[in-house]
Amino acid sequence: MSLADAPLDAAGPPGDGELLDAIDRWIEREVRPIARDYDHADRYPHHLVEQMRELGLFGATIGQEYGGLGLAASTYAKLVMRISAAWMAITGIFNSHLMLALAIEKFGTEEQKRLWLPRLASGEVRGGLALTEPDAGTDLQGIRLTARREGGHYLINGTKTWISNGVEGSCFALLVKTDAAAEPRHRGMSLFIAPKGPGFSVGKKLEKLGYKSIDSAELIFEDYRLPADCLIGGVEGQGFYQATGGLELGRINVAARGVGIAEEALALATAYSQVRKTFGKPICEHQAIQLKLGEMATRARAARLLTLDAAAAFDRGERADLQAGMAKYFASEAALENSIEAMRIHGAYGYSKEFDVERLYRDAPLTCIGEGTNEMQRIIIARQWIKRNPTR
Ligand SMILES: Cc1cc2nc3c(=O)[nH]c(=O)nc-3n(C[C@H](O)[C@H](O)[C@H](O)COP(=O)(O)OP(=O)(O)OC[C@H]3O[C@@H](n4cnc5c(N)ncnc54)[C@H](O)[C@@H]3O)c2cc1C
Repeated sequence: MSLADAPLDAAGPPGDGELLDAIDRWIEREVRPIARDYDHADRYPHHLVEQMRELGLFGATIGQEYGGLGLAASTYAKLVMRISAAWMAITGIFNSHLMLALAIEKFGTEEQKRLWLPRLASGEVRGGLALTEPDAGTDLQGIRLTARREGGHYLINGTKTWISNGVEGSCFALLVKTDAAAEPRHRGMSLFIAPKGPGFSVGKKLEKLGYKSIDSAELIFEDYRLPADCLIGGVEGQGFYQATGGLELGRINVAARGVGIAEEALALATAYSQVRKTFGKPICEHQAIQLKLGEMATRARAARLLTLDAAAAFDRGERADLQAGMAKYFASEAALENSIEAMRIHGAYGYSKEFDVERLYRDAPLTCIGEGTNEMQRIIIARQWIKRNPTR
């Protein structure tokens, strides 16, 4: 039995199994056969994007009333785990897009929801979340991109960087300063729905260690004019809260990516260790390799359970920030550790571009950086933990 077949994975809302079966078939037929070549060529998988539209992935977590699938977080997490095991990078094509949709669905006006969500759900409009700047990542309140009100418009100037889908996407949730002098700083921040247009250009596409094929880019705003009705929720000063309001689901998603990589590394190492022989026996019979496999299997299982635990809390409507933070932190570290161990178990072949282990090793570190670095994650977990456990 593989971890993906474990009983916990079978639980979930009705219809969940059918969808996941369809995703499994798509992965085997379309994704696995091309992942290695596309990754090495850093080539954008346009045809997979069309198939993702047909599968409904661009509307996966958008409500059914807006044309989305309205998936529970637990189903969505399982879907992301499965795709990430085959090729993690492509989950960014729809996940960053869903973060944009979530900001609109959670905080937008009725008019904004009716205008944007159906087009986002169908994948007709695709995009992402534009928060990070050259001088501000973790410290988001330090952003400098400004939006100045001029009658019925805002005039926007500044630069964003590391924006997923920056080249291929056409619309972004854009975090700006509407009042650079505000104290505390977050009161001067606002979030806009920003479609590409005059004054909004793409700078360079960034070269990366891994997470290939999906575009990460610099976005440049020079006197970019946006109608005031693109301000999410219609009220200034809510941007920081809105931009971080999707973090629970965002962290469950990154955790699920980590689970996919950790389990795939384990599966590849397990298979290889049973066929590769040294000193007259398969290497899985050497205790040094067994110690590695034992740790890898435990890490992968724990990462899966933490992620499903966080998703279940989210689906019950409970506050899930602590669970989501723990899952994100643990699963991403599990991905990193399992991919290195899988590489070691493969010996020289783990270093070869003809084996998939090297891609897992290059993709894993991103999960430790995205949706809050793991340094911050542990601090956030500790703060929450202390708050929930005051001295009696
Ligand atoms: C491939 C990729 C895709 C991305 N996609 C997007 C995207 O779509 N949209 C977007 O907005 N951003 C995106 N990002 C940016 C990402 O969110 C940031 O890189 C991340 O938030 C960290 O910010 P930073 O790189 O500026 O690091 P910094 O904030 O400069 O941090 C540097 C180091 O200091 C540590 N650190 C910082 N502050 C503290 C503290 N208070 N205590 C302890 N340690 C601290 C950090 O953990 C890190 O180790 C992407 C990044 C990558 C690599």
